[in-house]
Amino acid sequence: MIRIGILGYGNLGRGIECAIKHTKDMKLVAVFTRRDPSTVKILTSDAKVENIENVLEYKDDIDVMILCGGSATDLPKQTPEYAKYFNVVDSFDTHANIPEHFEKVDDAAKASHHFGLISAGWDPGMFSLNRVYANAVLPTGADYTFWGKGVSQGHSDAIRRIEGVVDARQYTVPVEAALEAVRSGSNPELTTRQKHTRECYVVAKEGADKARIENEINTMPNYFADYDTTVHFISMEEMKKNHSKLPHGGFVIRTGKTGWDNENNHVIEYSLKLDSNPEFTASVIVAYSRAVYRMRKEGKIGAHTVFDVPPAYLLDMSAEEMRAHLL
Ligand code: NAP
Repeated sequence: MIRIGILGYGNLGRGIECAIKHTKDMKLVAVFTRRDPSTVKILTSDAKVENIENVLEYKDDIDVMILCGGSATDLPKQTPEYAKYFNVVDSFDTHANIPEHFEKVDDAAKASHHFGLISAGWDPGMFSLNRVYANAVLPTGADYTFWGKGVSQGHSDAIRRIEGVVDARQYTVPVEAALEAVRSGSNPELTTRQKHTRECYVVAKEGADKARIENEINTMPNYFADYDTTVHFISMEEMKKNHSKLPHGGFVIRTGKTGWDNENNHVIEYSLKLDSNPEFTASVIVAYSRAVYRMRKEGKIGAHTVFDVPPAYLLDMSAEEMRAHLL
């Protein structure tokens, strides 16, 4: 049994707990939280909930610690810190800061002889792998990534910070015409506005100036100003009934050419349609935790990414079975 710890119990932490339940080779030992443990209720009856301060007591009882904090402020500190004591996995998704994060985790994990896998999930994660495979197979070509339809937590939070807003949900939606243009192999150059639209559902305070709220959303730099955005004001009941899930997904497409004069076109497309972003992300992380356990057993240490993990290490299946059924 691979003994797992979960550090941080939000959406992703809960998803990891569910994913472990459906494995045969893993067991949840404990959940660690910065909050008062008595306020955090988990579903696994034989696992513990501990304050993060007690984590070192579990040094010898946990094979892989899965870090479920946020990418903005938690993981940049937590992953290098806990790589000093555990083999760790995170889903760090601030793409621009991945090289810096990798270096810090690598230094900590090498010094303590642990294995750290960073940025597992779907983007980064499964989408990244598909970009690598497609670039290797079609070196002459172009890459396209579309996200959605799905909830962007960051954009939803940005709307919630506007004066007069009680709650908000923002969906990122890929533009169908842009997707079709890419799939046709015509290699279009697409602007930000041409690739995605943004749909916002907003619950406003009673008596709030809705026209001002809508204008503040539409003109918000970085978040909305470069997109065609629609704003719908709805009731709290409707928000709870129709917008409480966290769906997401997207498309990674590479179009490329082969032939002596590049006369033949090819389209590679990988797509995800996810009812629950955190539960799917958790499923990817749990598969990679199995690989972390196996690679550490082979003596490997330091930071790694999904690019460094052999696919066979992800699955709880023998090599013979894999060759017979999946090859
Ligand atoms: P979240 O629900 O906000 O949880 C983040 C942390 O906040 C938790 O670990 C928890 O730490 C704390 N927390 C959660 N609920 C709380 C509450 N009620 N009161 C106080 N604190 C609470 O975030 P998430 O949805 O799990 O996402 C975590 C990260 O996953 C995101 O930042 C994102 O970067 C990453 N992600 C990556 C991918 C990918 O494809 N790579 C996909 C999705 C998400 P404590 O238990 O210590 O309080």
